[in-house]
Amino acid sequence: MSSVQSGCLWVVATPIGHRDDFSARAIATLREVAVIAAEDTRHSKPLLLHHNIATPLIALHEHNEREVVEGIVRRLRGGESVALISDAGTPLISDPGFRLVRAARAAGVRCAPVPGACAAIAALSVAGLPSDRFVFEGFLPPKSAARRARLQELAGEPRTLIFYESSHRVAESLADMRSVFGDEREAVLARELTKLFETVIGEPLGQLAERVAGDPDQQRGECVLLVAGRGEEADAKLAEGQRVFAVLREELPPAKAAKLAAAITGAPRKELYRSE
Ligand code: SAM
Repeated sequence: MSSVQSGCLWVVATPIGHRDDFSARAIATLREVAVIAAEDTRHSKPLLLHHNIATPLIALHEHNEREVVEGIVRRLRGGESVALISDAGTPLISDPGFRLVRAARAAGVRCAPVPGACAAIAALSVAGLPSDRFVFEGFLPPKSAARRARLQELAGEPRTLIFYESSHRVAESLADMRSVFGDEREAVLARELTKLFETVIGEPLGQLAERVAGDPDQQRGECVLLVAGRGEEADAKLAEGQRVFAVLREELPPAKAAKLAAAITGAPRKELYRSE
């Protein structure tokens, strides 16, 4: 065993909006460590000042993580303790830090969480969708073709789906979700959680997509989209849709047959078309 006790890498969650969603232990840890590795030091300073945390900061973001990891691990092995924070919420969750934690653990350094806010979990806790099993998908691809392909892979997923989305793409993403998962699938938009304009809207996807497309206020701020997993009812509907599609297909081209079978049975047109 090494004669020098290595430091600890504390992975500390910060608020996702409300400044007081910051645990007493998180604040104490950030005051005590030798240095805080922060995603954007300028962004974190006001929050740290607000809580009287004067610890020096170093930047660790997606563009320099590879280069700075080695230096941080050296300091940890030298006995210093380091805290990792991101701009908001839990580091590593659609945020930098994975390389650092992996390297620290590989070097035998203790990594300890100081848990707190995470937008995905906060959204799930109020969405009213099944929460016993869920899938966190992070951000969808920004371009529509890749986004639809990803959604298509998830069309049969029975667990609740959780996505992060930027406000300027939320309407487009909902339109794609609607066309891939069908109008009837339950969905929730959780926007600006813990902030002044916090909004949580749960509706069938078709309705939610139309509401958001028609209301620029719903396309502002930070948002999490949640979609119910595919239930047994949906499976039955799809089976019926496929049966009707097969009958119509004998007389009609595939696009027309899929459109009519979807209108008759409520099954998602895209999936019928794909089953061809
Ligand atoms: N690490 C963070 C966490 O633990 O939630 C997530 C960081 S990720 C770069 C930022 C995304 O998280 C936003 O684009 C949005 O999708 C979601 N998000 C963050 N804060 C939010 C809030 N207050 N309300 C709704 N969504 C939020």
